[in-house]
Amino acid sequence: MSDRGFWTLIRWRGAPVRVHWSLAVSAVVLGGFRLNPAGWLGIVLVVLAHEFGHAVLVRRYRLTVERIDLHGLGGECAYRGYATPWQSAVIAWGGVLAQALLLPVGFGLAPRVDESILRELLLSFGTPSLWMLLFNLLPVAPLDGHQAWNVLGLWRNRRRAEQRQSQARQRREEFDRMARGLADIESRDDLAPSDLELPNPLAEQIARAVRRAYEPEEPPQ
Ligand SMILES: [Zn+2]
Repeated sequence: MSDRGFWTLIRWRGAPVRVHWSLAVSAVVLGGFRLNPAGWLGIVLVVLAHEFGHAVLVRRYRLTVERIDLHGLGGECAYRGYATPWQSAVIAWGGVLAQALLLPVGFGLAPRVDESILRELLLSFGTPSLWMLLFNLLPVAPLDGHQAWNVLGLWRNRRRAEQRQSQARQRREEFDRMARGLADIESRDDLAPSDLELPNPLAEQIARAVRRAYEPEEPPQ
């Protein structure tokens, strides 16, 4: 994104935290077109919390935060390094989650605050933030929903892989048990195949085959 229209607020671990003028427009719209600077500031803080939710997870995955931008569509936490599809999706949820954590403040605490400026600020953590959050979860690039919902498919794949692993483990265990049973039969000649604790249907097949070997042949008609 070009540098035009951005203003660097601070630097966080070397990464510039920049704000774009379009955030002011969104704040006014989300604030219901009222003259409400405290509410606008509240919206800026919501977006900031959201982006830091991404940034914290980016660092957790040992990737590098390049830039944090706050703008009219919410913002962007740009990072460097290779993130797996799972990590990208989790990073997307980090912003959503950070923002969601502020919802109880906006809906529960804010209405009870007596001091009007603080109340207006905290009210932005409620309804306006919820609208931003829902918009942001639309599955369209560059919104977080574009990446965030991938967790469902990735999680399903992960579970399938786990199921396959556990089935393979069960099969290995059955074969081990079978091998132990066969080793046992070699050391004991008094053992009938039906005594073996072999998994069906293999045990039944062996038992049937042995039974057939001792059965008198059918007399010719
Ligand atoms: Zn985000």
